[in-house]
Amino acid sequence: MASGRTSRWLAAVAAAAAAAMTLTTPAAQAADAAATAAAKPRRLAIAIHGGAGVISREQLGPDGGAVYHAGLQEALDAGYAVLEKGGSSLDAVTTAVRILEDNPLFNAGRGAVLAHDGRAYLDASIMSGKDLAAGAVTGVTTVRHPIDLARRVMEDSPHVMLSGEGAEEFAGERGLERVPNEWFITPTRKQQLERVLRGATAPRNELQGLGTVGAVAIDAQGHLAAATSTGGMTNKRWGRIGDAPIIGAGTYANDASCAVSATGHGEYFIRSVVAHDICALVEYKGWSLQRAAAEVVKGKLVQRGGEGGIIAVDAKGEVVLEFNSPGMFRGMRDSSGRRMTAIYER
Ligand code: ASP
Repeated sequence: MASGRTSRWLAAVAAAAAAAMTLTTPAAQAADAAATAAAKPRRLAIAIHGGAGVISREQLGPDGGAVYHAGLQEALDAGYAVLEKGGSSLDAVTTAVRILEDNPLFNAGRGAVLAHDGRAYLDASIMSGKDLAAGAVTGVTTVRHPIDLARRVMEDSPHVMLSGEGAEEFAGERGLERVPNEWFITPTRKQQLERVLRGATAPRNELQGLGTVGAVAIDAQGHLAAATSTGGMTNKRWGRIGDAPIIGAGTYANDASCAVSATGHGEYFIRSVVAHDICALVEYKGWSLQRAAAEVVKGKLVQRGGEGGIIAVDAKGEVVLEFNSPGMFRGMRDSSGRRMTAIYER
């Protein structure tokens, strides 16, 4: 028979074990998380970009780029609506990027810039900050929404990156919407390619090489996501691939730091591993997102000659829109009421 002392000790051990079990059951964890969330509502936020570079006021037209603002606003509101309804940041960034892919003003999906052979070759990538899952596609020519394909690669294949014909085959097997390559081609992009081929202008000049689109978001669960989609650069050849589909360069997301989508001269962004570099400064050095973004975009990239910019959001819902070019099509909206679209610095 156990003595009084021993039985008290056994009871204490049993109680401690029960308490430990309670604490570690998924239901208890969920209740805990819900209680924390209820006590402190999380900030929802989404940011988007539609490319960075030299944007001449002349090319924006007499209305000062109203159509660009409207296009950005539409994507922003659709993405934000997903977050507001309790949807995931992955769904929010996918929604925003899909809309921009269909907008012929931007260099992604319909309206993508044209390669040397006059065709559109599309690149896209997406990343989930919750589990570091990622998907990317390059050189796609018939998939209406390359961002959907990147997401299928992430969620429905054992791989991270698929290219060209194989990516098309995978799209076919997964039943994604296909269109003829001509569907992506607009008269403006044809003229831009002709001008570049004549040597009348540089590939990344004016509105010709820019217009890549991207989105970053944080949802009610505090999960981050980033997505980027592009036609790359006018007159690209030899299967050239930029930073947009490269995880770490054009796109990166990690709940421990931040989510980033980049736009600019891809070769520089690849060499500087821009998106991951910013997240690494936040995670390892504890820098604010603003400081980290400025260090990389306005510091390192400028020293190395890389023009462009990024949009980013951190785990607290802080949004940063940083660029070293004269302009960047961009916008953001969050649950504290902030909401804007812009093209130039001010
Ligand atoms: N980063 C894209 C690329 O190099 C182009 C751009 O963002 O303007 O393909």
